[in-house]
Amino acid sequence: MPQSCDSTLQTLILGSGPAGLTAAIYAARSRCCPLVVHGRQPGGQLTTTTVIDNFPGFPDGIDGNELMDRMRRQAERFGTQFAEEEITRVDLKKTPFRVWVGDQCYQCRTLIIATGASPRMLGLENEWELYGRGVSVCATCDGFFYKEKEVVVVGGGDTAMEEASFLARFASRVTLVHRRDELRASPPLQKRALENKKIDFRWDTVVTAIQSDPQTGVTGVRLKNVKSGEEEDFSCHGLFVAIGHTPNTDLFKGHLHMDQDGYILTHDGCRTSIPGVYAAGDVQDPNIRQAITAAGSGCTAAMQAERYLDDLGVE
Ligand code: FAD
Ligand code: NAP
Repeated sequence: MPQSCDSTLQTLILGSGPAGLTAAIYAARSRCCPLVVHGRQPGGQLTTTTVIDNFPGFPDGIDGNELMDRMRRQAERFGTQFAEEEITRVDLKKTPFRVWVGDQCYQCRTLIIATGASPRMLGLENEWELYGRGVSVCATCDGFFYKEKEVVVVGGGDTAMEEASFLARFASRVTLVHRRDELRASPPLQKRALENKKIDFRWDTVVTAIQSDPQTGVTGVRLKNVKSGEEEDFSCHGLFVAIGHTPNTDLFKGHLHMDQDGYILTHDGCRTSIPGVYAAGDVQDPNIRQAITAAGSGCTAAMQAERYLDDLGVE
């Protein structure tokens, strides 16, 4: 059974994605006796995808669930405890820090926040049902599967430009759909995408529906020009949604310094604005958001937490 507020944990880790589990492996091996609280998505975002081709050490790729299961077992081997709960409230004003699951309280000397980020979706009826079957939020992860196929990218920011340019290496054609006639993306990324002959732009346009086949997944999208009201069915195999991410940080608002989009600000590694509280992975990374960078920062956070405990003289 996990310890409750009666006793103080040395290290409490929120989230069991690559950042949280890597932090757990390091913290457990250095005898910081971590407890990992899973939240609603044990294993994190990678459990929603199939093959991971870019995590080092797996020359033939590895299934997302398998990778996360291995990380969990590795953390367990060194004594990590797990609680399948969702944290609902925190108090970081004084040490030991306290976090709650409903009425139950956990108390800890160091806290590692690895609650990830969630991609924003379009809000279309069947987009979750088709997630992984033509609907994607990550070109780096899934682009390879669209060799010589037609894909649509939605968004007008840096991510959409990067996704479109990356996909143009594989796809037969990329159509970038943006709701306005002006891009938000930075000039160099805009330029690169606008100059790419394999990328077409549909301005003032939104996706209003996704068409699919039960066997093959996405077969097309319905496009609507928001100025003229004109609609069209557009055939494609992939729909890449690149309209931003939302970091899972609502719980920490008012406690920790964050940027304007809610990403936790870290400095000197994974330190946050409160000594003893560390943030790792997507929750503090508005730019890269990859499994390996999340894992790397999980390692940093755990080692910094360990040194902080050493400085406190905690055995
Ligand atoms: P996450 O994996 O998001 O994990 C967050 C964890 O926090 C979860 O366990 C969640 O339950 C928990 N949590 C959230 N709120 C709470 C709470 N209140 N209390 C307790 N726990 C909470 N990257 C790659 O490098 N290669 C790929 O091929 C790749 N493919 C991807 C495919 C898809 C479909 C997606 C969505 C992403 C992909 N990524 C890929 C990106 C990668 O998944 C993320 O960068 C990575 O998972 C971030 O890890 P994380 O540990 O920071 O957070
Ligand atoms: P973003 O800058 O917030 O852009 C999101 C885009 O999606 C905007 O063009 C927005 O349209 C559009 N959008 C939002 N909601 C929509 C909806 N419901 N339907 C249709 N379109 C919608 O997000 P981002 O591109 O992910 O970038 C996030 C941050 O990361 C930015 O600071 C960016 O600079 C940074 N980033 C940097 C790099 C790089 O430097 N290489 C790469 C990627 C990301 P509007 O324009 O109309 O609002």
